[in-house]
Amino acid sequence: MTEPALVHQLAEVFEFDSFAFAHLSDAERAVVLARRAAAQPRTDHSWSKLEWIAQTDKRDALRICARLGLHVHLLHGVDDRGRCTCGRKTCTGKSRGKHPINDGWEVAPFDLNRVDFGLIEDPRRNLGVRMGPQPGGYDLICIDIDGPMTLLEPLEARFGKLPPTLTATSGNGFHLFFKWPSGVELPSNTKLAGVKEIDVRSRRGQVVIAPSRHYSGRSYKWVRCIEPAEIELE
Ligand SMILES: [Zn+2]
Repeated sequence: MTEPALVHQLAEVFEFDSFAFAHLSDAERAVVLARRAAAQPRTDHSWSKLEWIAQTDKRDALRICARLGLHVHLLHGVDDRGRCTCGRKTCTGKSRGKHPINDGWEVAPFDLNRVDFGLIEDPRRNLGVRMGPQPGGYDLICIDIDGPMTLLEPLEARFGKLPPTLTATSGNGFHLFFKWPSGVELPSNTKLAGVKEIDVRSRRGQVVIAPSRHYSGRSYKWVRCIEPAEIELE
């Protein structure tokens, strides 16, 4: 679908002023759509099992996430001094312990055994979830906030409050996960509404998950273990 066609369709669906909507960035549109996420109560309580991950190791976490239909993959980890286990001299910045081990991860099928063997080989390795279509039959996006939740306040003042959704803490911020309509393209790694601390991760993007270790020494944690809020285009 071409970009103007998508904008027109979304504007029609939401009765937006299509001219104004066309001038939002894709990431800003994501906020508008998230605001309009379905209000009906979510009934799939199996997501509460993510609470167990605080007491488990990465191999158990992998199984819990796989049962929830998430596409989990292997990332390089960090050692006790915060160095990336990829061993590259150039890997010194924010990507430490966050980048996928296998080439072609963007399109590789989910393979629980391969990830499990990878954790046995080196337990320091981290886990990530690839955004976009999941084995569970839904698409995911993540709003990645590099800092406190208050960074969302100006956006929520402008677009409305985001619905309660699956939430994790990262090394120094938060990850908010949403179910996203299949087939609607949203560019990944885009700054949200020009806020430099907030990124949108979508298809061809990925997010580190609990109980992975951040280079700061802190672990990622699930803090709101509910089904991701669904963004519906109807
Ligand atoms: Zn690295």
